[in-house]
This record gives sequence, structure tokens and C-alpha cells, in this order.
Amino acid sequence: MFGLMQERPLLIASIIQHAARHHGSTDVVSRLLDGSTHRTTYRQLEARARRLARALQRLGVRMEDRVATLAWNSFRHLELYYGISGMGAVCHTVNPRLSADDVAYILDHAQDRFLFADTSFTALIEAAAAKLSGHLRGVVLLCHAAEMPSLALPAGIEVLCYETLMDAADEDFAWPSFDERTAASLCYTSGTTGRPKGALYSHRSVLLHTMAQNSAAVFGLRPGDRMLPVVPMFHVNGWGSPYAAPAMGAAMIMPGRHLDGASLASLMNAERVVFSAGVPTVWLGLLQHLRSSGERLHTVRRLVIGGSACPPALIEAFDKEYGITVEHAWGMTETSPLGTFNTPVEVPGEDATAALRRKAKQGHAIFGIDMRIADDMGHELPWDGTTSGNLQVRGHWVCSAYFGDAPDSANDAEGWFTCGDVATITSDGNMEITDRSKDVIKSGGEWISSILLENIAVAQPDVAEAAVVAAAHPKWDERPVLLVVPRQGKTIDTAALLGAYRGKVPNYWVPDAVVVLDELPHTATGKISKLTLRKQFRNHLVATGAAG
Ligand code: AMP
Repeated sequence: MFGLMQERPLLIASIIQHAARHHGSTDVVSRLLDGSTHRTTYRQLEARARRLARALQRLGVRMEDRVATLAWNSFRHLELYYGISGMGAVCHTVNPRLSADDVAYILDHAQDRFLFADTSFTALIEAAAAKLSGHLRGVVLLCHAAEMPSLALPAGIEVLCYETLMDAADEDFAWPSFDERTAASLCYTSGTTGRPKGALYSHRSVLLHTMAQNSAAVFGLRPGDRMLPVVPMFHVNGWGSPYAAPAMGAAMIMPGRHLDGASLASLMNAERVVFSAGVPTVWLGLLQHLRSSGERLHTVRRLVIGGSACPPALIEAFDKEYGITVEHAWGMTETSPLGTFNTPVEVPGEDATAALRRKAKQGHAIFGIDMRIADDMGHELPWDGTTSGNLQVRGHWVCSAYFGDAPDSANDAEGWFTCGDVATITSDGNMEITDRSKDVIKSGGEWISSILLENIAVAQPDVAEAAVVAAAHPKWDERPVLLVVPRQGKTIDTAALLGAYRGKVPNYWVPDAVVVLDELPHTATGKISKLTLRKQFRNHLVATGAAG
């Protein structure tokens, strides 16, 4: 016997319809490319998303067509999220920090019909368009007619103006109903090994992710909250924020491309932001700005940090110096992205050191995700907080196959997706990433966690950023090398820095060399590029005689 509850497909348009109808006057604020501020509401945004759906129809876009975006966080990008997916096409967010070659590969692989782009990306578009093989019909620049820059594209690709298309379209579009399993959005991995691969999200997976994300254990947004997604909307659906905030009637404050510490602090204060989310590099920048300028954040209460391991020093600094709670999250492009979340809890009798250690882990699987660690043969490993193994997940918003690949080809027979991360899990389910499997350092047959070593380095007062990579060693096979960037105006005493490891890690974990650099390379998604550093420092110990 089936239950007798209404069955309505889980569709993305329902989120913006809900926001427009029930939280219609809530703010959507955007800092535009020229630094000016644009204000709209969910009611107006939903109307413009319908107008956009009409404009897309007039361009010939049909259900399941891929439509790409190359844009910072702004109201127009939000319109694209809803207009494209809402009409049944696939919103394909492209990362503008990738090379022209990768952008061309991704646009071709997805067979995008149109590309909607911010005007700041014309050079990248011209370089990528020259390499395309013929699917793209047009590039639509996200601006008014008077703001159109010049853009030279190969024959067959039109240049169009977003606001001109919008002016010519009607708002009489009605959001259609269709199968909730229909593809809604597409995001390619950053392709640190080989070519980028597409994770294809469905309306159903996005809706379920949104509901889990808004549970009290996770983002838990509410009407009246004002959230600033620092994480770009081209990175895994902006970590779900463009869906989670309107679903709850929380205001969205979009920073555009202005992601430095000073710009973020001023926008957060001006717009009374209470909640934000982004990668550690951004928060290290914000912290440096706050410390050097003396500026305070008057309304921010919670920061979600993920995408790379959050150094405990960052959790402690925001808490002690600014009264802001840091919540650590783990996820990936293939998991929509949220997989685990470290929800703040009080543990009776726990001392400060143990509490910080616990908070720095990546957290518990959120409802809708199952997780485990396994050995290389796929056998589950114990949850004892020390045994490390390959992290695997399965759930309602985990990728089953990459775009264009055979069904279920991303999973094993039991549906487990292997994440490429090495992790431990405590007996009560708190997961900790110790390394990306490719970054693991194996010294004399023992594993050394680069993340733990990096966390100790960034906790030192003169260190702004740190990375630990494996260098070849004739005796131990691999040994850790520490690469550090000093804080502005500071110098690093390398002996004192190495001394900081004493008593915190086994002696054989202490790095064999410290190299001070002006900056570290970052990937297109803002993580430290270990791949670049590994290549660069692979022979460091042998070349400098330090391996002798
Ligand atoms: P991406 O698909 O670009 O989001 O990258 C996903 C990868 O980022 C994961 O597999 C992890 O290696 C890493 N990652 C994401 N969040 C965290 C975190 N909180 N701590 C450590 N690594 C993380």
C-alpha cells in the first residue's frame, strides 16, 4: 500500500518561486565589477528569471541543452541559475580561473549552445573560442548595451547583450513541471590529474542537498539571516548557497570579484552579513586584513570553511579575537558538494586543546550521505580515530558517473564513490582528512600527514600560509619539505619554526627542510596547488645536499 501524500517533483524553480512568494521583499545585493552596489529582491529576481527563460527560448534553447556561465557571484548569475535550470536546460558553470585550453575543452565536452559571461572575461573567451569545435552558437555578455566591450569571435558565434535580450523578452513564462531526475546543472572538476570531468546534478539531487544543507546541523539558514557566499558560483553550485539562501528567505550578499580581505570586511559590515562560506585562503586574507587594520566585523557570527583543510589556528583566531564561530565542512564537486559538517557542540569536561582538535576535523556525515574508510582492496577499516584509509561516500547527491561516461561507472558495486582523500574516523563518526591520496608522504614505509604539518606551521605567529610536500630521499624514499610564506613585514626563523613541531608530532614527521617563498601557487578553486609544488620541490633535498 502506498502512502497518500501529494507527490510533486523536486524542481529547482520551486525554490525561487517560494522565495518570491513568501520572502518577496528579501534583499539580493550585488557588488558589481565596477565596485558599485546593485539591489534587488527575490520577487524581482524571480520575475527576471522567467523573463530570461523566455529569452533563452527565443535563442532556441530547449530542455536538456547545456548553457554555460562564466561569471562572478551577482544577481545576474543567480538569474541564470534559475532561468536555465528552471526551464529544463542545464546550467553549466565554468571556472574562469582555468586556462583557455581547459575552458575550450569543457565547453566542447559539454556541447554548450550559449555562454553567458561577465565582461571582464573577454580575453579568456577570445582565447578559448579560437579552440572550439563548433557547438557554441553565441556569447551573451552580462551587461547593458552601453557597456558592451569589443569581443572578436570566430564566424558562427554571435555576440549578444544580456540586458538587450532581457528587454526584448516577456515575463509571461510559467515554470514547467518535469521529471525531477532531469539534469539541472553541470560543473567540471578542476582536473588536477588529467582532463576535467563533469559532475551532472539533477533537480532532485539539488533539492535534497538544499534541504539537508538547511538543517540545523549544517548551514541552518533562517529568514532574517544575511549570507555572503564568498565561494564562487562557478565552484560546485557555490556550495549550494544560491539554493539554500532563497529556500529559507535569507538575504544574499554577492561580492562579485572583490574577494580580498578589505573588500570583504567592508561589504560584510555595510550589508550586516551574519554568515559566510569560503576556502581557508580567503579567510586567512580577511584575518590578516582585520589584524593589520584594526577593523572589526560587527555582525558576522558564523563562517563555514571548507574546500581545503581549515587550520586550527584560523578557528581559534576568529573565535578568540573576533567572537566568530568557524564551522568546518568537507565536500567535493562530485558530492554537490556537502558531505560532512563539523557542527558546533559542547562536550562536557573537554579541555580547550581537545576541543580545538575536534573542531578542526571535517566532521560528521550529514543526513543523506553515508561514509566509510576502506583499504586498497575495498575492505572497510575501523573507526578508531587513528587508522587511515580511502574515504568513500554514497548518498542522494553523490555522482554515479561523470558526464558522458557509462552509467554507474564512478562507483563500485555497492555504490561507494572513492573520493581520493585519505581519512580517519573516530568511534563517534568525526571524520578527519589527513591527505589527498596523491599528496600522502611515505617516509620509510610510514605515512606522514601533510595537513597536520601545515596546520602546525600556520599556527606560528610569523607564518601566513604553508604547504608540505614530499621530496625524494635516497634512504627514506620520501621526506616532508615545508614551504612557507611569511606574514606581511615578518621574517621567518626556520629553526624556531621546526622547533614548533617538537612534542606535537613524532620526530620522524618533522620536515627535513624549510623553504621561505613570497607566495604559494593556488588552483582555480583557491586551494594551494600541491601538484605544482610537488613537481617543483621533488628533488629539493637531493639538489641541496640536504638528503646527505
Ligand atoms: P573540489 O572538487 O575542487 O571541491 O575538491 C574536492 C577536494 O577538496 C576533496 O576531495 C578534498 O581533497 C578537498 N577538500 C574539500 N574540503 C576539505 C576540507 N574541509 N579539508 C580537507 N580537504 C578538503
